[in-house]
Amino acid sequence: SSPDQSLIKGRVISVHGLRSKVLGEDGVFYECAIRQVLKSLSIEQRGVIVAGDRVFFRAESPADGMIESIDPRSGVISRTSRGRQHVIAANVDYLLIITSAAQPGLKPALIDRFLLTAEHCGVEPVIVINKLDLIDPVPLQPMIGVFASMGYRVLVTSAEDGTNVAYLRALLAGKQTALAGQSGVGKSSLLNAIEPGLGLAVSAVSQDNDKGRHTTTATTLIPLKGGGAVFDTPGIRQFQLWDIGSSEVSALMPDLRPYVSGCRYPNCLHLSEDGCAVKDAVADSRIDARRYDSYCHLIEELLSEEEATFR
Ligand code: GDP
Ligand code: ZN
Repeated sequence: SSPDQSLIKGRVISVHGLRSKVLGEDGVFYECAIRQVLKSLSIEQRGVIVAGDRVFFRAESPADGMIESIDPRSGVISRTSRGRQHVIAANVDYLLIITSAAQPGLKPALIDRFLLTAEHCGVEPVIVINKLDLIDPVPLQPMIGVFASMGYRVLVTSAEDGTNVAYLRALLAGKQTALAGQSGVGKSSLLNAIEPGLGLAVSAVSQDNDKGRHTTTATTLIPLKGGGAVFDTPGIRQFQLWDIGSSEVSALMPDLRPYVSGCRYPNCLHLSEDGCAVKDAVADSRIDARRYDSYCHLIEELLSEEEATFR
């Protein structure tokens, strides 16, 4: 609750320099400055306030205000660069991992990578398989079953015919959600379906070209009528494996995690070591072979990156 009755509670929509756009609980947008006290607390730190922050501010005119305090954050999406943690989005309740069943085709390994990031950030992932209208869903059941057995929520949708759009709308109500997924899978289409009137631009499927974009600035929160909000940033859409080391991966995978303590060597990477309890579990199908394959690829990729860094 507010320490001061004249303060308004709000959430930060976007930040530009030391000013930010805040949506007040009164439903009004305010241009807010950060109080001097807060600025001096964080010398050198540019991300004092980020999109998604819950703040208390004092209205100084019908459209301007002064942020007085920031609530403690939970579910932070951040990335370390040159030894410093840059927070990109604060108070993230869900990471919506959006994929498509076809056009572009489903890439389970990409889902695995986004799941790792969600686990690493402590944000609950929700797997969405969109464009259900284009396929026969039956062959997808085993893979969906594997994700579901790990405790992950999996939702099949179609922005085209409306399948599960109402369910997704209800799920996101009152939550702050970050979207991940390659371009063309239907992120904008799904948001437009959830929130008629949002009017996000929908692109042609062929424009799968955001691999090179790594901008992590300009995160914006899009408020939804249901009381929730969605983070919009090209950076978040591509965030995979940020700050994750090869030795951390198995602990971030709920299906591998129970077995790692049974390995002979405490620093076992579960690749070709003797006495590996993870490989034993793969051999008799207690761990899904595709997931383990995905794990091996990730480890090889991370090891070669780590080698390059230390060389
Ligand atoms: P984004 O890049 O992830 O935001 O994807 P878009 O929302 O821009 O959609 C890319 C293309 O996929 C557009 O041509 C959409 O019309 C199409 N699309 C999106 N969702 C669906 C769906 O559920 N079914 C079908 N058939 N097409 C879809
Ligand atoms: Zn092992």
